[in-house]
Amino acid sequence: MPERIPRVVIVGGGFGSLAAAEALRRTPAQIIQVDRANHHLFQPLLYQVATSLLSPAQIGSPIRGILREQGNVMVILGEVTGVEKEQKRILVGGRAPPASGAIEPSGEACSCNGFGPI
Ligand SMILES: Cc1cc2nc3c(=O)[nH]c(=O)nc-3n(C[C@H](O)[C@H](O)[C@H](O)COP(=O)(O)OP(=O)(O)OC[C@H]3O[C@@H](n4cnc5c(N)ncnc54)[C@H](O)[C@@H]3O)c2cc1C
Repeated sequence: MPERIPRVVIVGGGFGSLAAAEALRRTPAQIIQVDRANHHLFQPLLYQVATSLLSPAQIGSPIRGILREQGNVMVILGEVTGVEKEQKRILVGGRAPPASGAIEPSGEACSCNGFGPI
């Protein structure tokens, strides 16, 4: 009987989520990466956009493009609307992609230069 391949849903395409996908690169897991945006935003360069040193396009990269070399990832554009802990399911627009696990580093609050969370 064939072994079941673990499927992991990773929420977001930020630094945390991309690092999680990379960490699973050489595992037999199938990864479903879900983000409500189609691009990764390099947040540390937002100041340079705000001051017109860079254009928004220079700090955004398509998530599919970043992960295109990684064969075990499928990228989905969608809003995660819920987490059902009991059933171990992540809901994307009310539906649950079939998965046996989930990783959710979808946005870290930070405190910058003493100005509090941004
Ligand atoms: C102006 C600025 C400057 C910074 N400078 C630095 C720095 O110099 N050094 C440093 O270490 N850190 C810096 N940070 C902080 C750093 O960028 C964040 O800590 C880091 O981006 C957090 O990564 P993350 O993966 O947790 O979340 P994010 O990078 O915020 O990614 C979250 C992703 O999840 C997606 N998402 C969220 N909710 C949902 C949902 N419900 N459904 C689907 N998708 C969803 C979002 O679309 C997003 O793509 C800075 C932040 C800012 C704003």
